[in-house]
Amino acid sequence: MEILYSSTRDSQKKVTASQAILKGLSDDGGLFVPDHIPELELSMKELADKSYQEIAYEVMRLYLTDFTEDELKNCINRAYDSKFDTKEIVPIKEAEGTYYLELFHGSTIAFKDMALSILPHLMITSAAKNHAKNDIVILTATSGDTGKAALAGFAGVEGTKIIVFYPKNGVSPIQEKQMVTQKGDNTFVVGIHGNFDDAQSGVKALFNDSELAREMEDAGLQFSSANSINIGRLVPQVVYYVYAYAKLLKQGKIKDGEKINVVVPTGNFGNILAAFYAKNMGVPIGKLICASNENKVLYDFFVTGKYDRNREFKLTSSPSMDILISSNLERLIYRIAGNDAEKNAELMAALAKNGGYEITGQMKAELADFYGNYADEKETAARIAEMYENTGYVLDTHTAVASAVYKKYVADTKDDSVTVIASTASPFKFTRYVMNAIDDKYDAMSDFELVDELSKIGNVAVPNAIEEIRTAPVIHDNVCDKNQMKAVVKGFLGLS
Ligand SMILES: *Cc1c(COP(=O)(O)O)cnc(C)c1O
Repeated sequence: MEILYSSTRDSQKKVTASQAILKGLSDDGGLFVPDHIPELELSMKELADKSYQEIAYEVMRLYLTDFTEDELKNCINRAYDSKFDTKEIVPIKEAEGTYYLELFHGSTIAFKDMALSILPHLMITSAAKNHAKNDIVILTATSGDTGKAALAGFAGVEGTKIIVFYPKNGVSPIQEKQMVTQKGDNTFVVGIHGNFDDAQSGVKALFNDSELAREMEDAGLQFSSANSINIGRLVPQVVYYVYAYAKLLKQGKIKDGEKINVVVPTGNFGNILAAFYAKNMGVPIGKLICASNENKVLYDFFVTGKYDRNREFKLTSSPSMDILISSNLERLIYRIAGNDAEKNAELMAALAKNGGYEITGQMKAELADFYGNYADEKETAARIAEMYENTGYVLDTHTAVASAVYKKYVADTKDDSVTVIASTASPFKFTRYVMNAIDDKYDAMSDFELVDELSKIGNVAVPNAIEEIRTAPVIHDNVCDKNQMKAVVKGFLGLS
């Protein structure tokens, strides 16, 4: 059945999947949502024997209904290839009786690769299908991981340019080095004096700038988004939750139909929303456990029904979750409002104006699938150390937040269902925090000495993504204030 997409702020206008991917964000500032969530057509038993690529096709074809079989398979095969350091694409590791879904085996060693290795292919295919004449300019705000994954995906891709803004003092040293060493004439990386929310708000303002859009059009250019607001990022993320269930079934870890819980370290709410979509497609998932760090807006929201971003922004050891405005939550709000675009638009206007909103009791009752909690910096570090001591397995800081929250969930509820924790980054990306958590004697070592030490104590090879940047020259050294973003973009694009 064909699926069309409409904006969370206006249900009248409908576009195809390829048009939604091409545009990224709707003109009214809303996010594109499918008119319904499709059901899986194959049983879990049938999916259990399939490869990652085959499962990706079975899931994505249900959402991207205007792509032909050839087009979609071509995108999938180009994305999930030897860029990943394992044939499984997403290995599942058991530790302390819980399953860690390792989403970090792609080229930039964070889970963003799961979607950003396919997005460029979906985007070019969408452009061709819609006879787009313009070059596409990918404009992206990053809390650290999206930036590099998007750069790696779009570098050198004909007909595209990519601009990435990151918070200058808000990413890990390795994350920054990965971005500023990016090669490719079509790439542009800028640090801003501000935090991730500043970068994200600035980017959204540029998307909604009609004067800039006209100048771009005259120059044969148009913006699109590689942020998780793009439906072309959300859909590929649904795949690995289906895959995880299918593989646990195949390995005999669960019985067919048995419910599992899923824990997701959350920032912009994209990854956990994908798990929610998977549940609604028919994957037997019980609770969706939303883990936050000290920027615990989402925890407060699940407890009180009030979203309130008016609070201090904290820089933590899990920077990719340092977010106070979780963009993808809008898709959930729209749904629990009964797909009511007007109601959602009203709440989002309150968020923009006053920094918060409160949902109705009826909407709150629709959130029963979710459990929210958070881990502070001390709990996160303690979890890394404890897991290492118990099992030798080294967690990155984001995954450690999830693991700590999972322990709180079990203590709270005594629910001992089989559980999958989304493991969103390699510990090699956050070496200093991770090593310091294990032992403070590591404090004196340099970033790359720590890399080698981690490889030794964790008994894992140094990933390629890290080897590459050891000696790579810095190519991008641009820094700007948050109110200069438009000027910087125009400069790079050669618009006067
Ligand atoms: C982006 C990111 C997250 C948060 O994911 P969302 O989809 O934004 O909620 C968590 N961990 C890591 C390592 C990330 O890169």
